[in-house]
Amino acid sequence: MALKVCKFGGTSMADGHTMTKVKNIIRADSDRLYVVVSAPGKRFSGDTKITDLLYGCYEQLKTTGSCRQAFAEIEKRFTGIVKELGLDFDIRGVLSATLERMEREKSEDFCASRGEYLSAVVMAHLLDAKFVDGEDVVFFDENGAFDDKKSYAAIASAVSGGGLCVFPGFYGRGADGKIKTFSRGGSDITGAIVARAVGASVYENWTDVSGFLACDPRIVDSPKRIKTLSYKELRELSYMGANVLHAESIFPVRKANIPIVIKNTFRPEDEGTSILPIAQYKPGGNIVTGIAGKKNFTVLFIEKSHMNSEVGFVRKVLSVFERFNISVEHIPSGIDTMSVVVEGSCMDNFRLEQILECIKAEVEPDFMRVSENIALVATVGHGMSSSVGTSARLFKALADAGVNIKMIDQGSSELNIIVGVKDEDMERSIAAIYREFFGSDRV
Ligand code: ASP
Repeated sequence: MALKVCKFGGTSMADGHTMTKVKNIIRADSDRLYVVVSAPGKRFSGDTKITDLLYGCYEQLKTTGSCRQAFAEIEKRFTGIVKELGLDFDIRGVLSATLERMEREKSEDFCASRGEYLSAVVMAHLLDAKFVDGEDVVFFDENGAFDDKKSYAAIASAVSGGGLCVFPGFYGRGADGKIKTFSRGGSDITGAIVARAVGASVYENWTDVSGFLACDPRIVDSPKRIKTLSYKELRELSYMGANVLHAESIFPVRKANIPIVIKNTFRPEDEGTSILPIAQYKPGGNIVTGIAGKKNFTVLFIEKSHMNSEVGFVRKVLSVFERFNISVEHIPSGIDTMSVVVEGSCMDNFRLEQILECIKAEVEPDFMRVSENIALVATVGHGMSSSVGTSARLFKALADAGVNIKMIDQGSSELNIIVGVKDEDMERSIAAIYREFFGSDRV
């Protein structure tokens, strides 16, 4: 029997109407046994997500010692949902116990986690399913890292009785016994963890779009949908800002070769996008699978004659960044040159001056230059390595669009070509590359 884990995002959980759609999707396929839910998201543009309201509760709690007032909005949303669904259980009792524990624990992660908790309680009633609390089955170790062995064993034992189960996404319990959340959007990670723990044949991730698009639809009008994507391509694209799925969510399923399918709760008949392990993946005929970009990087360019023969040069430069606790994103290099790319948000002028001084002292470069506000644009696809002239086409497309390329980094896997351009040129660059490889003028 195929076993499916289904994770539903915030827009799928937004109100009673959308939750009914979720119920219908689960009922339509008896293989859909394990359900992971986000907190209710926005119902309309300008609305506030429950998780954001909960962070607001924590702020109020911190300053006034109570969050009763801010919590009133959350009570209203959940009592409204339960009424709309016609469910008969004591949601008011659950809400007041939740508020009482929030005020007692006074923890930001605990407050933030309650959206998923309440959402899963409601969904378990709606589906007449077992509620499995994240704090009993998802664990973090003393260093705050996800504890896979302990969590997989706990999930497997929680579902061993059989039947439909509902899990809240986004949180688990730390080694100190306190509730801890993943980073924002982390219910995707919980979904992947549950899929791995139960040995699912597929991890369905239900959202409000019909899969991954070849690039951001705010940049190109109606870009093509990607039918299949490898885990590696997904990782590159989500790291670069394609945000359908949390970038960390492939790790648990990748180890067990479990495919992920992105589906649309509002158009369940649409095929969606399948994300497959490389062994099952067959390129769809396109040289390029997708294009994504991210702004605000800082690039430090270093030049020194005979850099190539100076043992330890790169290590010494990188050790400076390590000392400042700055994560290095890319290190494109030439014979006598290297560049270090870091996120702009971790570099203020003062830090930058200090780092430059330290690098001067460590390696005595001939020349250094700093470029700020650089966007990285990644063109990703397994097809690129076997197609002659891909980079030539890409660079010509950028030249024709009048974009000045500040940096080039071709991953050694030949899965991607990353170019650095000025922040203000990012959209134009993505549109030009899309036009070249997907042949559309509708930009
Ligand atoms: N509710 C959390 C957030 O808004 C987690 C999630 O939806 O995945 O980030």
